Amino acid sequence: MSNHYESSETVAVRDAIEKILSFAKVLEPQSVPMQEAMGRVLAQDIVSDRDIAPFANSAMDGFALKAADIEQASPKNPAQLKVLGIIGAGSVFEGTVQSGEALRIMTGAMMPAGADTVVMIEKVEVTGVSAEKPEGTQVILTAGAKLGLNVRDKGEEALAGDLLLKAGTVVNAAGIGLLAATGNPHVEVIRRPRVAILSSGDELVGPSEVPGPGQIRNSNCYSLAAAVKAAGGEPNILGIVRDNNNEILQAIQQAVAHHDMVLISGGAAGGDYDFTYQVLSELGTVHFCKVNMRPGKAQTLGIVNNTIVFGLAGNPSAAMVGFEVLLRPALRQMQGFTSIKRPVTKARLTTDAYKPDSRRFYLRARVERDKASGEYLVTPEKNQSSALLSALQNANCLVVLQEGLDGKAKSEMVCCIRLDIDEGVEI
Ligand code: AMP
Ligand code: MG
Repeated sequence: MSNHYESSETVAVRDAIEKILSFAKVLEPQSVPMQEAMGRVLAQDIVSDRDIAPFANSAMDGFALKAADIEQASPKNPAQLKVLGIIGAGSVFEGTVQSGEALRIMTGAMMPAGADTVVMIEKVEVTGVSAEKPEGTQVILTAGAKLGLNVRDKGEEALAGDLLLKAGTVVNAAGIGLLAATGNPHVEVIRRPRVAILSSGDELVGPSEVPGPGQIRNSNCYSLAAAVKAAGGEPNILGIVRDNNNEILQAIQQAVAHHDMVLISGGAAGGDYDFTYQVLSELGTVHFCKVNMRPGKAQTLGIVNNTIVFGLAGNPSAAMVGFEVLLRPALRQMQGFTSIKRPVTKARLTTDAYKPDSRRFYLRARVERDKASGEYLVTPEKNQSSALLSALQNANCLVVLQEGLDGKAKSEMVCCIRLDIDEGVEI
């Protein structure tokens, strides 16, 4: 088995991503309550079922009147109008505003027939005041108003039949409001990928167990599940499998039947107890088992019944970087997102960045804007061991050192893949 691993070609990161994406098909739509559409890709057009707003209404608390009545109004020559009554949002005034008349009106209330303009309450004086019973009072205006002032048109947002949200749109909070406004309590969105997560290793015990001699706690299942969730997937932790061909084979076979993607960490290299390659070639097709990256050289892409089964490195940090670089784009694509690349910040290195071999190196690092100069500075974590989770917990980016032996010296500019900013965000 190790011969397979030894003799396999090492694929470039770019080719590995492309290969995985070629199997990451957009999933089918599902109907969800509108609140669950937040941040997801719409699978249907949303057409307005009515004019929004359905009627012309007041944008202010004030008086609805005819602009022509107050055209000549000035402090020396104020206009005085008779107040017919008062209406609030949700009520309809049955009468018609005639010349010389005004109606006390609240924001959102339907414009009364005959009125064409609203003058805000702060700009008028009222005589014979009675807030509760405005009928019979007079409103005094000392200035004219532009025709239509403070009146929101019927259909300002949309006319009945207008396309408000196109299929493919990523719904944000305002979009949820539009779904409500158009009477769509349920909506079709692309469903989330169900991702099975397995860890293989004879040394592994659960997080609530006390490890015996030679044992460690299984952390990969949990960090990967969190990363899957952050990518919009639905993780399903299937737990630990032993370093045993049959056990791994059965676990993967079952997982493939019920999931859209299967992740298994550990056992991905060519050691005597590494079975991922062997099992995946028995169950399906292996497309590669080595990627020219660090951390995470040993990573296996298998396709079993059209499902991506991915063997991640066992080292905790390598498993996470492998997921981020190779699988997160695929999970995004499966959800219908067209933005599948994280934003990149160019930043100046605060230290030398040594390159231990010719693989593409993803350094766990922190990028921050320097307050004094305004420029971005990036500091790689001191210990880049692929076993260390704390380096990734502290990091907010991956500094990319391209293939080849050249590292980067302090003060050189590098590209930082932002782990703290979602795909599609302009920075
Ligand atoms: P492997 O890829 O199986 O050779 O594992 C590489 C390293 O990662 C070893 O030190 C393993 O003990 C460790 N490792 C493998 N799986 C896990 C896991 N689920 N959680 C934490 N560490 C792991
Ligand atoms: Mg192992």
